[in-house]
Amino acid sequence: MGDGIVIVGGGLAAQRCAQTLRRLGYEGRVRIVCAEPDAPYDRPPLSKAVLADADAEADLPYRPPHWYVEQGIELLLGVPAARLDGVRRTVALKDGRELAFEQLLIATGSRPRHLPVLARFANVHALRTVADARALRAALAQGGRVVVVGAGFIGQEVAAAAVRAGVHTTVVEAADAPLAALLGHAVGSWFTELHRGEGVEMVLGATVVAAHGAGSVERVTLSDGRTLRCDHIVVGVGVDPDVDWLGDGGLGPVGAGGQTRMAGVFAAGDVTGGGHWESAARQGAAAARAMLGLEPVKAAPDGFWSDLYDTRVQYVGHAPTADATTIDGDPSARDFRVTFTRGGRAVGVLLVGRPHELPNARALLAA
Ligand code: FAD
Repeated sequence: MGDGIVIVGGGLAAQRCAQTLRRLGYEGRVRIVCAEPDAPYDRPPLSKAVLADADAEADLPYRPPHWYVEQGIELLLGVPAARLDGVRRTVALKDGRELAFEQLLIATGSRPRHLPVLARFANVHALRTVADARALRAALAQGGRVVVVGAGFIGQEVAAAAVRAGVHTTVVEAADAPLAALLGHAVGSWFTELHRGEGVEMVLGATVVAAHGAGSVERVTLSDGRTLRCDHIVVGVGVDPDVDWLGDGGLGPVGAGGQTRMAGVFAAGDVTGGGHWESAARQGAAAARAMLGLEPVKAAPDGFWSDLYDTRVQYVGHAPTADATTIDGDPSARDFRVTFTRGGRAVGVLLVGRPHELPNARALLAA
């Protein structure tokens, strides 16, 4: 058997690449190497259903174990790749094994940023893996007070899950409104009021500058001089591509089909600097096509969704480039659409409580 295709990283992009290779008739060897012990699984529920309900973990795997067997896709789980040798065309694993490849997909995703000021404490959580979600669910079950640092989508989802679990919840955000850099202050402020209406304390325009406690954080001091008591802290201040294992050269530029500067080496998903489910899925499939020498498929604009207090929030396009916004509907009823325009042309759409309008929003942007 030839060396075939090695996929490093076992998340969404990896699974979509492997699946697409088989669907397109590739019969060579396919191996997925993943640092985590689980076969590829879905991450969005980790900050939603899984925080409230352990049973929701049952729905996480993209495919059942027998699918990989039937498809002839080998899973090497629980072992990280430690080094890529682009000249010898091998990947060294941390356990000493070495895998030769004909083509390689780098799909190692991203890892949460840490705050140095919180580094030495035990009760500080990040949320990337199912293990992280289990630890956070157990912490929230203890009750008490949680401070969520960062009001991006994940921070907001954690805050929503925490307050619904009866935990006293405070969000600390450096900007003057959640998602202000993406959606602007006015739309961001709608998120502020959404959480306040549900009982979350929103502290805006402040950062955590000091933490106090022995072993666990008991209090944090904010940049505005305020002090917050806490039993748990969740840090959601963004992610960085997981490229350390590639060494000093890093990943470098990535082309439309995921092609890197090394022949036969592709990259897809969060590792390329994305950060959203749809783009990871699309890029994984696109890399498979490129590996097989097929033309890329024209892609619809990528989007992002979030679920907050049973309301679906969806976003497509590039709102930061807008020079005007139009709101249609009733923000107080969690039922509205924001159209971001530039020179009169739609560049982004935010839908709140209007999932049925998504195809229309995509069509508007594609036009
Ligand atoms: P990942 O799914 O992160 O997979 C990368 C895998 O590579 C991981 O299993 C990692 O352990 C492994 N790995 C890392 N380093 C190595 C190594 N050296 N060797 C081997 N394996 C390695 N997106 C949305 O659009 N909507 C949402 O509502 C949403 N919610 C989210 C909620 C949470 C809690 C998280 C964490 C993400 C969410 N996302 C959401 C983002 C979405 O899940 C990601 O964009 C998507 O999972 C990226 O897929 P990926 O394959 O690039 O990376």
